[in-house]
Amino acid sequence: MDQLKDIIRNIPDFPKKGIVFKDITTLLADAKSFHRMVDLLAHRYVGEKIDQIVGIEARGFILGSALAYKLGTGITLVRKPGKLPYKTRSISYELEYGTDTLEIHEDAFKKGDKVIIADDLLATGGTMAAVVDLVEQFGAEIHECAFMAELEFLEGRSKLPEGKVYSLLKF
Ligand code: IMP
Repeated sequence: MDQLKDIIRNIPDFPKKGIVFKDITTLLADAKSFHRMVDLLAHRYVGEKIDQIVGIEARGFILGSALAYKLGTGITLVRKPGKLPYKTRSISYELEYGTDTLEIHEDAFKKGDKVIIADDLLATGGTMAAVVDLVEQFGAEIHECAFMAELEFLEGRSKLPEGKVYSLLKF
């Protein structure tokens, strides 16, 4: 696991001064690391009855589609406003400065569908908490929120359903 952590590149002062951004593109670009990361995460869910994976724009699509392929499910996209072509439901959530909005197609799930929501990284938890809310509005059941990496010191998981958060790499 340390090898996977070490290949993630730190970018100081991105996107603004004082933030050390975890650049996961280095892990994605390395064949062995990418394979291992997907295998380890997918292995966790083998044998579970999962109806659908949800991927959060944009890096959540990468993990989400790999998981969906491995688990034999489809993937549903959560996107920034104005990108999805059909009728949507949306949710807005607070950022440090201002708000952000995410959308999903209004026919995304049936009541009781069991879903995994995938994103690259858990920071403050605001993004994933909004998507959990959106998915639960359909009456779907969250099996787990799955991340490649987590910044534990930001305590993002405290905003998410207890016991339903998994991250492969913890910083
Ligand atoms: P949160 O809402 O604060 O948990 O931020 C998580 C979202 O921001 C995810 O969709 C991530 O893609 C992105 N993000 C925040 N910090 C980082 C980082 O250091 N590396 C990569 N993505 C990040």
